[in-house]
Amino acid sequence: MFDKIGEKINILAKFSFFIEMVSVIIGAIICFYMGDEMTAIGFAVLIGGSLAAYIGAIMLCGFGKLVENSDLLTEQIREEKAKKRFKEERAKERQISKEINNYRINAQNNLMDERIDDSEYIDFYCPECREKIAYTKAFLKENQNLECPLCGSAFRSQF
Ligand SMILES: [Zn+2]
Repeated sequence: MFDKIGEKINILAKFSFFIEMVSVIIGAIICFYMGDEMTAIGFAVLIGGSLAAYIGAIMLCGFGKLVENSDLLTEQIREEKAKKRFKEERAKERQISKEINNYRINAQNNLMDERIDDSEYIDFYCPECREKIAYTKAFLKENQNLECPLCGSAFRSQF
């Protein structure tokens, strides 16, 4: 019922202008029929009534236009708000997926660190006989003084 209110006000303005003009003309005709002493009043009714009807119609039309414009403005503001909210939500989503990605990478790195950790064998060469020797990281951490199993020379762990 209150949709397109500006358009309805416009129609109402035209309709009421039409009704007013009909009444003004009928009023003037009645005045003219009533005799010579009423002729001036008849003209006054015709001119004044027409003018009043015209001014009233213009004002009502202007008001209708105003309502129409404010409706448009409200619609625009609503659209802009919706757009802004959409953008904000997209930014938030991007931020969340970024965080998830970082979390995943961190988890992967942690897993790799754990895997490498103490059970991994580390190869190095005996400073004496230059033979390749392998110990686990954990063993190297705990034993600073090592002995080459091949030549029997003692050396210190670098870990
Ligand atoms: Zn050796």
